[in-house]
Order: sequence, then structure tokens, then C-alpha cells
Amino acid sequence: MNYLKFNESELDDELKEKSIKEVRQVCLGCKSCDLAQTRRNVVFSDGKAGAPIMLIGEAPGADEDATGIPFVGKAGKLLTSLISDVGLSRENDFYICNTVKCRPPENRVPTDEEKCICERFLNAQINIVRPKVIILCGATSAKSFLGNDIKITQIRGKWFKLFNSLDAVVIFHPSYLLRNRSEEENSPIWLTKQDLIAVKNFIGK
Ligand code: SF4
Repeated sequence: MNYLKFNESELDDELKEKSIKEVRQVCLGCKSCDLAQTRRNVVFSDGKAGAPIMLIGEAPGADEDATGIPFVGKAGKLLTSLISDVGLSRENDFYICNTVKCRPPENRVPTDEEKCICERFLNAQINIVRPKVIILCGATSAKSFLGNDIKITQIRGKWFKLFNSLDAVVIFHPSYLLRNRSEEENSPIWLTKQDLIAVKNFIGK
């Protein structure tokens, strides 16, 4: 993966929204990889382009493919409720997208090739949004930036500098949390809430 181009200049919120709209339009017509053959909808993003937090997940699932909106299925609902539990607002504080914008068949993990072909859109999203912090949500997202050798259980909760400039933290994917519903101390859900609280503190909310 090669997410290496990062612009130093920053747009105001109005220009961010306009720029994101333009990139979305291009993305909606994209047929650059095989995922275009089986998708129902391109799932570009949700949230405000001027948001302080950008969350990058893996790939759209069935509900997302049906609606064209990321993180709206069971896992997305859990994520939304955790966000609200810690006092953040999905609507106002987050810009949410995935490493690839079309659903891989059978919800398989997107291949490196698919991620590489699609990265121009993610690259544009990062450069336009320029959030205060990026949340790498799940192993696939983290691997896209930090390399395929990482283990999610070892780097969850750790902070990184992307492009020597953007602060980023790794959290568990909510699909994993759905399979581990305990909320006891040190459980995956409990740890994820701590990570989101750290993000909230980081943006000064
Ligand atoms: S996954 Fe990305 S590159 Fe592939 S068709 Fe969809 S938008 Fe285009």
C-alpha cells in the first residue's frame, strides 16, 4: 500500500464539503476493480468533511451495500452506540469511510490489489478532511497504513503518526465486538470505550 501523498495546506469546511462532493461523484462511477461487478451501491462516506475525527474501516458489508452508507448494519449500530456512550456524536464529530468503497463478495477481506486500486479515493478523503485524529478501525484498516505484519491485539489502543503529521489510533472493529459482548473491565468493548475516550480527550471535547 502506498498512502504517501499528503498535502500541507488545509481547506476551510465549506471547501472541504465541496471537494468531498466532487470526489464522491467520481467514486460513484468507478469501475476500476472487480468489486464494481457485484456491488449494489458505492459506499463512499458518512459524516462531515470538516469533522475532527476520521474513522477508516475495512469494507462495506451487506447493509452498507444496500444503503450506500458505511457502518449502518449491526456492527455499525454498535459502533454508533459506543461513540455516543463516551459523549461523542457520530453526526457531528466523525467522518466515516472504508479502505475500499465497494462490498467484497461474501464479506471477504479486500485484497491488497483492491485496496491499492481504491486508495486514490481514500488518499483524497484524508487530504481533504485532514482530521485532528484518524481512527484505524480493525486489522484491515490498520494493515493498510502500518503494514501487513501487524497484529491487531498488539497494536490496539496504540497511537501512530501517519505521514509524519496526522495522529492516528487503532481500535477493534465493531464486528469483533459483536462476537465479544462482555463489558467487563479489559473486555474488548471496555477497551474500545477507553480508546474512544482517549480520542475525545485528544480533540479537547
Ligand atoms: S472498490 Fe474502489 S476501486 Fe474498486 S470499483 Fe469500488 S470505488 Fe472503484
